[in-house]
Amino acid sequence: MPWSLLLGLVPRKVWLWLIGILVALFLLQMLLYASVITGLIGYQKSSSSEDVRSVDVVNGTAQVSAALEEYRPLFEEYAEKYGVSKYVELLLAKTMQESGGRLDDVMQASESLGLPPNTIEDPERSINVGIRYFSEMLEKAGGDINLTLQAYNFGGGFIDYANKHNNGEYSKELAIEFSRMKYQELKHTGMYSCIRPESAETGACYGDIGYVEAVLSYLKGGVIEADLQPTGDWVMPVEGALTQTSNYGMRSDPFDGTPDMHRGIDFACTNAVTPIQSVDNGQVVEVVRKNSGYGNNVLVKHDEGLYSHYAHLYTISVQNGEMIQKGTKVGKCGSTGNSTGPHLHFEVRTKKQYRSDVNPAPYLGL
Ligand SMILES: [Zn+2]
Repeated sequence: MPWSLLLGLVPRKVWLWLIGILVALFLLQMLLYASVITGLIGYQKSSSSEDVRSVDVVNGTAQVSAALEEYRPLFEEYAEKYGVSKYVELLLAKTMQESGGRLDDVMQASESLGLPPNTIEDPERSINVGIRYFSEMLEKAGGDINLTLQAYNFGGGFIDYANKHNNGEYSKELAIEFSRMKYQELKHTGMYSCIRPESAETGACYGDIGYVEAVLSYLKGGVIEADLQPTGDWVMPVEGALTQTSNYGMRSDPFDGTPDMHRGIDFACTNAVTPIQSVDNGQVVEVVRKNSGYGNNVLVKHDEGLYSHYAHLYTISVQNGEMIQKGTKVGKCGSTGNSTGPHLHFEVRTKKQYRSDVNPAPYLGL
């Protein structure tokens, strides 16, 4: 039967009704979309105001085995795929704890698919699944790294538990509480055993209650708060051509060869000649002149709650308490104190104190 004939058979009144119903359905749909969209916008607003406090930034470098280092390109590829490129070092540190790069299921990701442990036999698949799972936990945890890590080990239920019982914050006590509860629930399955003496003592034998500490022990330089994020507009502390002679992180001590934490970046410069300048506006909060340790050194406090530190100077040209500008000369390159030759030792700290250092590289755009 031709289409036009069929149309003619249906009374006009019925057509009007049908059109009316369609229009009503369409309007209802739009209303639904609108409420979903406002819901989303509302959600974004409330979470961004909390971000100032709670979002962590990974600033450290993972200490990685040779076996795991081989997989680095895959980590970079899948981290980009799941929008977590900023967390490659953390993912590597985490994997050191999971397998050290020595098992096929590198990231021990089988359980996140509901499979028995070590079921995944292809390392690339393990990295794919593991990073996807990490990105889901990170989103659910609102960027809180401790919470994300513990949830990777315990499952996403731990984040709900933290939201319900601890304002969405991780604590070791909370992890013990959760682990003990789950173990009571699941010990009859025989799938869980107390892997730490601490677990046996507390009955917290589900998952690993020491997981967060264990992972972060592989991350040198650590995690910093979001309001201390690099601004990206610092100038270099050394004027002119830049040669980095030593990076931030573990290295062998230049004097006795023992493993040692290098708390800054070293830049080559010419003794008593090269000007050393402040990386940003700030206030000089420490001027020290001595022949040991850091030698002649200057500490400057900046707006973001960060400190920059300039050591082994030949001379110092600022005074304690002085307000200075980005590019102000704080002194001249030298080799005073514990130094093997003229260079600038440059640190970034989150507090005034020694050992509160973070890797300066991201702040300098290096
Ligand atoms: Zn140094």
